[in-house]
Amino acid sequence: MTLLWLSHPRCVDHEAGERHPERPARLGAVMAGLEQSGAHDEVVVRKPRPVERHELLRVHSPELVDTVERLAEAGGGRLDADTAMNAASLEAAQLAAGAGLDAVDALLAEEATTAFCAVRPPGHHATADQSMGFCLFNNIAVTAAALRARGERVAIVDFDVHHGNGTQDIFARDPEVLFVSLHQHPLYPGSGAVTDMGEGGGLGATVNLPVPPGSTGELYRAAFDTIVGPAVDRFAPTWLLISAGFDGHRRDPLAEVDLTAGDYREFVRFLRQLVGPARAVVFLEGGYDLEALTESTAAVVAGLVDLDHEAEPPSAGGSSSDVVAHAAHLHEL
Ligand SMILES: [Zn+2]
Repeated sequence: MTLLWLSHPRCVDHEAGERHPERPARLGAVMAGLEQSGAHDEVVVRKPRPVERHELLRVHSPELVDTVERLAEAGGGRLDADTAMNAASLEAAQLAAGAGLDAVDALLAEEATTAFCAVRPPGHHATADQSMGFCLFNNIAVTAAALRARGERVAIVDFDVHHGNGTQDIFARDPEVLFVSLHQHPLYPGSGAVTDMGEGGGLGATVNLPVPPGSTGELYRAAFDTIVGPAVDRFAPTWLLISAGFDGHRRDPLAEVDLTAGDYREFVRFLRQLVGPARAVVFLEGGYDLEALTESTAAVVAGLVDLDHEAEPPSAGGSSSDVVAHAAHLHEL
């Protein structure tokens, strides 16, 4: 097993303002996780290329891209209530969006068996028209759209604790991209009801699994086994992209879900086997407790390369499987 680790020092230079939770130190915490994972011989580290404008325009309006470019030239500015940038943010965002494209090329060239994009700013809240929720460009959507353009079938599984509203928005009408999100409800941005199942020709290709505060890995495992796994199997993707936010960790300050690093390791192990070899790419999204970010990354990396690693044990109890039963009923499984 070889893990391609894509990261760039310029991704540290993006700053969204003083005391903003999506801060440069997050990337150092994730790098520490790679170190702590014990995976050394199994890892290839590389700097990604910047995304090109036409690759962004597959998922974003020209106005969104122009706004980010204009603000970078002006030295920075605000994109929405929670999202701001500095002069360095454009380059960071271009590299963050380019990482997944490089990951795909490397996996196709058999240079690695799996890939982790350790980048910021994150992406999954950015809609077609609006940078929001700490996200400038939608990194995972850019990669999904590039794969889609090559005729691939793409499944996106998003286990960041917040709903991936941007990714959902971009692919809601697309039957060739399956979007599955597990997220705390109620929580920012408020979307992602279980009844949101896609639109038009894409009806059924969106699966939302809102979980209540206090949910543990036990509920997530039930959801993976009874809904996520069967939905992905039925869709039969050729590629699987994972929005890996670690803000569902029990110590995260922005949410109330009770996951552990061990849970995250189980999630990626489970998801990885839903597609063929060398067809899964992991994207860093949220995660705002630095220590939890390190531990979760270490556990996930170990999970991706099949290494034994001492992680916090998976969590159990404390939540109701009614949510899963209800969702399963809606999705007719
Ligand atoms: Zn999040």
